Amino acid sequence: MNKDIQTPPSSTLGMLGGGQLGGFFAEAALKMGYKVAVWDPSENAPAKRFATHKFNAPFDDAEILDKFVSVVDAVSLEWENVPVELVEAIQLKKPTRPGSRSLGLAQNRTIEKQFLKDNGFPLAQYQVIYSAKDLSGLDQELPWIVKTATMGYDGHGQWRISSTSEKDEVNSPIAGEGPWVVEQVVPFDMELSVVVARGIDGTSITYPATENIHENGILRMSVCPARIDPSIELSARHLAEEVINAIGEPGVFCVELFLVHPSKILVNEIAPRPHNSGHHTIDSFSISQYEHQVRTLCGLSIAQPRRIGNTVLLNVLGEEASVLSSIETTNLILKTGRARIYMYGKESVRPGRKMGHIIFSGENIGVLEKEALEALAIISRR
Ligand code: AMP
Repeated sequence: MNKDIQTPPSSTLGMLGGGQLGGFFAEAALKMGYKVAVWDPSENAPAKRFATHKFNAPFDDAEILDKFVSVVDAVSLEWENVPVELVEAIQLKKPTRPGSRSLGLAQNRTIEKQFLKDNGFPLAQYQVIYSAKDLSGLDQELPWIVKTATMGYDGHGQWRISSTSEKDEVNSPIAGEGPWVVEQVVPFDMELSVVVARGIDGTSITYPATENIHENGILRMSVCPARIDPSIELSARHLAEEVINAIGEPGVFCVELFLVHPSKILVNEIAPRPHNSGHHTIDSFSISQYEHQVRTLCGLSIAQPRRIGNTVLLNVLGEEASVLSSIETTNLILKTGRARIYMYGKESVRPGRKMGHIIFSGENIGVLEKEALEALAIISRR
């Protein structure tokens, strides 16, 4: 579809995927005067709370595809496992940003790694294997992380191997369909993420690097700005922008990075969508990552957002959401005036599932972090 097409307010924007990211996109779009059509197999997907049109079918439903395309003026996505074939079909008819190129890269680790390598971006040493038996022949130094090439998220589809005997133990979990990426464990000091917005004219902006703290492979807390040297922060942003420029599609992206002591930065992965670590941009920047997703989709101006404050984000995971159904607990967290609670309206609870988040905003990151840790103790009953 014509790369230059612009989509004015009052048009209908299509969203593939109906999670919290799609929900925040929809809110931003509604505020700007757009309508939003959300397609997600789940009838109660969070983003459907804000949808003007709801499509509940699986992503391979050809009839719904025709209906969706007839309703929308432009399409974006919020989940990297939307089938590439679907995006290829839609982008023939309506502007789709990002498009199938970024999606194809992001949903297959082997293709993503090859792309990064071919373009000379720094990344952890890795090899691709096609059968569990290949593990025994690997000459890479231990420890490793074995990752499924597709459909991995939040630490699912990953196995850490620290000793030769563990090579045999993971044989059975990875006995399914390959390929797998076997990656060296990076002794990083910090995990960082950088959100990049790229307009239809090829100009781009980056948000400041965010520092991410994971628990069992799941994002637990994010601190923005990251507590790193300003020159390293600039390098991280520059690297992320270069990665997205190399893909060359408009949209909002996030590049996840490892910072290795003292100043080496490696690319971990690319998300072709706004990122959970970037929710804070709603509260602490003049333009949120979601508003930028609307702008890049519609061919509107993108602009360097102004920072309003510092933030610590705390994710509410799994059963922790039920603690927040009490007024007393909620008030305990809200009383400082620095906290805002966002719940996504997810009906089914799974361990580790992102159910909501709490943003602490202000100036002193030490104070914000302390309050976030206190809130964590409350919701996790630690
Ligand atoms: P991923 O799905 O690749 O983003 O991995 C999820 C999390 O696992 C990352 O955010 C890291 O905390 C950890 N991880 C992944 N790959 C590596 C690696 N090569 N070395 C160390 N930790 C890793």
